[in-house]
Amino acid sequence: MDTVDLHVHTTASDGTYTPGETVALAREIGLAAVAITDHDTGAGVEPALAAGRALGVEVIPGIELSAGYGSGGVHILGLFIDPDAAALRQALGWIVAERERRNREIVAAMAADGIPIRLERLRAAAGDGAVLGRPHIARWLAENGYVSAVSEAFDRYLGRGRPYYRPRRRIPLGDAVRCIRDAGGVAVIAHPYEYGFEGPAWEAFIRAAADAGCRGMECVYSGYTPDQIRALLDAAARYGLAVSGGSDFHGAVKPHIRLGWGVAGEVSVPASVLAGLRAAKF
Ligand code: AMP
Ligand code: ZN
Ligand code: FE
Ligand code: FE
Repeated sequence: MDTVDLHVHTTASDGTYTPGETVALAREIGLAAVAITDHDTGAGVEPALAAGRALGVEVIPGIELSAGYGSGGVHILGLFIDPDAAALRQALGWIVAERERRNREIVAAMAADGIPIRLERLRAAAGDGAVLGRPHIARWLAENGYVSAVSEAFDRYLGRGRPYYRPRRRIPLGDAVRCIRDAGGVAVIAHPYEYGFEGPAWEAFIRAAADAGCRGMECVYSGYTPDQIRALLDAAARYGLAVSGGSDFHGAVKPHIRLGWGVAGEVSVPASVLAGLRAAKF
């Protein structure tokens, strides 16, 4: 069976494989297509497309936008986007500036406690134009012996409720979906079980996202059980959403997740979902 992975991060955001390395890995493991979906940037798309042409792998231009819903944040994937579309670029400018403001706050709080972390160093290490987030700070803490792994940095320092957690403002869910659609993309609800909603609150979120213009749902995702995947496929059918699936591969930032595989092989997404997602554009 031809399979695809429609949720993948690169060094353009917080992954550790460059776009070219990511596409090369996709080819090595025999994926029919890979969607590049970096957090709040399309900068990895162009180099990935070039690698895809050279290596004969279909690359789908994508993005993963952080958006506000209720009092928290949710992630919306955009597939088949034009990363240069004006409305999207404008929104990304605001989102990235807000991320930078938060990064400065976190790093200043750490520096005040005697942790010699420098934002310029993180920026230089991440490479030109990478969108920095907490994972970059977490990697620095791991590489400099403050924690033994990125996940420990979140658990002890950077996660919500931990001493160096700082909030950031988000664009509303409806605005995120509109940007994706204006950029020619299909908006897909990312990892629907990662937000802590249950029962009626979960249904309300899916309905709100669909009402806002989401046309797909990530039903297959790293760590999801067969029962969860079945429930998501059923919900997608009930709400008229196209089925998507991906691993959320980040390389060494999430070392337990493998491209096109997930944690235990649960991320097996047939290439046939692409037709449904493409049709969902219209
Ligand atoms: P930010 O975008 O700066 O708010 O950071 C959130 C990102 O950090 C998520 O999208 C994940 O990629 C990553 N992340 C969150 N929690 C963890 C964790 N416990 N271990 C590793 N990565 C994480
Ligand atoms: Zn990430
Ligand atoms: Fe996400
Ligand atoms: Fe992701």
